[in-house]
Amino acid sequence: MIPLHSFLEKLHHTYSALETGQVASYIPELAKANPDWFAISVVTTGGQVIEVGDYQQKFTIQSISKVFVYGMALEIHGRERLLEKVSVEPTGDPFNSLIRLDEDSHRPFNPMINAGAIATTSLLQGDGPTERLNQLLLMFERYVGHEVFIDMPTFISERVTGHRNRAMAHLMLNFGMIDKDIAAVLDLYFQQCAVMVTCHDLALMAATLANQGVNPITGVQAVSPDYIRDILSVMYTCGMYNFAGEWAYRVGIPAKSGVSGGILAVVPDQAGIAVFSPRLDSNGNSIRAIQVFQDLSREYGLHLFDLSMGRCVFSQALQSAG
Ligand code: GLN
Repeated sequence: MIPLHSFLEKLHHTYSALETGQVASYIPELAKANPDWFAISVVTTGGQVIEVGDYQQKFTIQSISKVFVYGMALEIHGRERLLEKVSVEPTGDPFNSLIRLDEDSHRPFNPMINAGAIATTSLLQGDGPTERLNQLLLMFERYVGHEVFIDMPTFISERVTGHRNRAMAHLMLNFGMIDKDIAAVLDLYFQQCAVMVTCHDLALMAATLANQGVNPITGVQAVSPDYIRDILSVMYTCGMYNFAGEWAYRVGIPAKSGVSGGILAVVPDQAGIAVFSPRLDSNGNSIRAIQVFQDLSREYGLHLFDLSMGRCVFSQALQSAG
């Protein structure tokens, strides 16, 4: 078995040469990303950190925020009430699809596509937009263990160009799926997407989910352990958009991607893993990150249903890293 740090270095070296795909540009500010940025971070549930590349590079979290806002909505409303508002069915559609809004049930399909995420954000509570934003930032801070900030240029950039998301919010208002002031809801959604993180932060956030909601470095409870299974289930079935099925098949652990080039994944009880590289495929997922996760899963038997290698290979690799 290859020690984890050496394997991460090897993957970083190998896939640095992979230059296919495009940096997202439909949000103009995202096009400024350096396409060569590349980082891989692992944080264990014991708080050990193994990482290579540009893991301190800041970028906006984008769709990965949906996972954590969903956790917040679960804590506020509980599983059954939230399910009445946002379903948990994968769509097989792109993240920004507005074709399939379930008008009969008045629910968007799942909280990982934009429609469901906007509906989820509309369910956050707080006295006015500032209070709701502060609650959201405090939630992220519990996961990353430090203050978080919104990247203003990205927020403004999406706010002035996010017509598709605006159209979705209007349609959902029309169908009675959301009932708040949609301008404020969209602002909060654009703000959650513009929260700045590093690849290290993402791995720590995933490690917190792997660790029953407790941040393994600070010891802070970021989310109730009661909702970890709900969050991970939705990530597993819907986290990678129209690649979710193939991801479950090839990599086999709950994950979430974002258009800025991050993917985080959870190895329950063991670790959080994040990869960041801004060049995307046509589904909006980072090309290098998918390759790295496939290789990691194969090497250490991470697939949840792959029992052929035993459950201990990855934990041995983690131990040998320490
Ligand atoms: N803010 C982006 C949007 O709403 C997030 C999409 C993504 O990361 N897939 O389009």
